[in-house]
Amino acid sequence: MHIAGVRLRLLELPLGAPFRPAWGRGRVQTELVVLLCEVRTDTGLTGLGAAHGGLEAAVTIDRFVTPHLLGQDPFQVERLAAVIRDAEILGAPAYGMEIPLWDLLGKAAGMPVCQLWGGGAARVRAYCATGELRGARERARDVAQLADGGFRAVKLRFHHDDPRDDLAVARAVRDQVGDRIELMVDANQAGADPGLSGHRAWDFRTALAVARELEDLGVSWLEEPLPRHDLSGLARLRDRLATLRLAGGEDSHGLGEFRLLLERECFDILQPDALKSETASAIRHLAAFAGLAGVAVIPHTWGSGISLLAHLHLAASLPNCGYLEFPHDPPSGFTAAARDQLLAEPLVIDDEGCVRVPPRPGFGFALDEERAERHTVRVIERGDSW
Ligand SMILES: [Mg+2]
Repeated sequence: MHIAGVRLRLLELPLGAPFRPAWGRGRVQTELVVLLCEVRTDTGLTGLGAAHGGLEAAVTIDRFVTPHLLGQDPFQVERLAAVIRDAEILGAPAYGMEIPLWDLLGKAAGMPVCQLWGGGAARVRAYCATGELRGARERARDVAQLADGGFRAVKLRFHHDDPRDDLAVARAVRDQVGDRIELMVDANQAGADPGLSGHRAWDFRTALAVARELEDLGVSWLEEPLPRHDLSGLARLRDRLATLRLAGGEDSHGLGEFRLLLERECFDILQPDALKSETASAIRHLAAFAGLAGVAVIPHTWGSGISLLAHLHLAASLPNCGYLEFPHDPPSGFTAAARDQLLAEPLVIDDEGCVRVPPRPGFGFALDEERAERHTVRVIERGDSW
């Protein structure tokens, strides 16, 4: 069996209502951009996945990955992953190209990918990852509704001009929902979005003051409290906290950077993303070493249901994980329904706030082909005709 074709489809999907990401000051998002990646074999098997980014990722994959996949054995995932990793030297992160290979493998073996990865949990506890900044009263009401809807954990965003306004939101939420919800906070301080002005980065003392308040509120983890290269600041901050855990790493790239984060003892929780930080197989290797240091690996994910489903298998397979990031922030346009609009079977939480791993071969993507076609704006195909 060999790889006979690679197809990249760029989709622009409607969100239905505007979404204003906390991490991109001034940005109003009305579309969900998805790059679908498919790898087909000469026997007619197709593996599906998604990559991080839009056209820039498509160009990178087409120039630096596809030519090295065509004609190769798709089951040599670790070997092909080297090509996928190195694409980033000259282009956008292409780590997501490993996803269709694992999907192929699962389909060929007739089993879910997380079983190929050694088994693991049948379901994973979802934490609802909100994305917008809102006022205290509004956010408290919204989190209460999420709790009523079955979520057991919710992550808030901190990015107000004055961190005291962020803390007021967390306090209002805790007052409203009490202990029935586990709370996390993402400060998104690792890096500013390129080209957007107005990002006011926290310094060490701000991060420490906020973290101490969050400890008092019983928050589980604080994510990205400092710039991603301030390794000594992160380690110092972590050292001064008693119960609050530090999380981060979604903006790091490659195993080497994650090794540094481990060696410098920056985080209690590493959050690699199998589309933009490293390949899924490398994240699994990382998790083994993180486990030795008592560090959890709870992958980051954002974007479409395709990437969420891949990360669900990854989270289920890692012994030191236990959570699935579940992007969903009604009443903005970024909801689970908008996120999963390409899936015939959207991902939902059960009555204990967990997401079940679908018992289908591969990652279990059931793509709504008609919808995908309707919103495709660009196609790049190589190899046999599709
Ligand atoms: Mg984050």
